[in-house]
Amino acid sequence: MDGESTRQRYEDICRRIDEAKARSGRSHDRVHLVAVTKYAAMDQIRELIDMGHVDLGEGRLQHFQKVCPQVEEYLERQRSMGQVNAPEQARWHFIGHLQRNKVRKILPHVRLIHSVDSLRLAEEIQSAAEQLDRQIEILVQINPTDDRKRHGIAPAAVKHLIDQIQTMVTIRVRGLMAMAPPVEDPEDARPVFQRVEEIFSEIRRSGAGGDGFDILSMGMTNDFEVAVECGANIVRVGSGIFGTNEVTEAASPEQAEA
Ligand SMILES: *Cc1c(COP(=O)(O)O)cnc(C)c1O
Repeated sequence: MDGESTRQRYEDICRRIDEAKARSGRSHDRVHLVAVTKYAAMDQIRELIDMGHVDLGEGRLQHFQKVCPQVEEYLERQRSMGQVNAPEQARWHFIGHLQRNKVRKILPHVRLIHSVDSLRLAEEIQSAAEQLDRQIEILVQINPTDDRKRHGIAPAAVKHLIDQIQTMVTIRVRGLMAMAPPVEDPEDARPVFQRVEEIFSEIRRSGAGGDGFDILSMGMTNDFEVAVECGANIVRVGSGIFGTNEVTEAASPEQAEA
């Protein structure tokens, strides 16, 4: 990605999403790109906002608390200068593991929480939302391979959790979120995404999720095209847009091959 600008990478990801949609006969479906800010510098985020991009995602509370007000301030400034391209508001997606005692900190700013994976967390969100007098939209995070080291609820328990959340008036379940295990070849993620899509469709068919149950959030930089082919309508892409300003734990594919 040397020499490429944030804008070029962003446009390239958008094009690849469109191509993946076309390949799977979903050209008319809307697929939302959430730009994950964990590796982003503020000027890169501004560049996206200037292009009219609205969906931003963050998974770490500290970074969220830093970046969110900066984005607010920037949007405020753009509005006061009469910039027509700038969106009214950013839509923040909280995508990381959420501790119950942190819920109150993020709630006022989030549009969609992707990572609800327990009844206790849902209950905490419910009571915090009551105090704010708001309804909060969430996704249930599923752990498709039931790997104990990873977050998310086991496939067998998903429907029961959704039934329980459905009784909470301040929470609206909008769908499922999943991460595939880190694999080198994105094709290896396909069976996992297919399995999640099956569970998603099954819940929709059963009516358990209610009318608004229509979001399937899966796919990251390495595997978003496969995820779109498998039915994702939100993809969460970080390093593919912003590059990696941090050393990541997983080796890049180039390194792994060397
Ligand atoms: C970091 C992260 C992403 C984006 O990862 P990239 O590989 O950088 O695109 C997506 N979803 C979640 C939950 C993340 O933590």
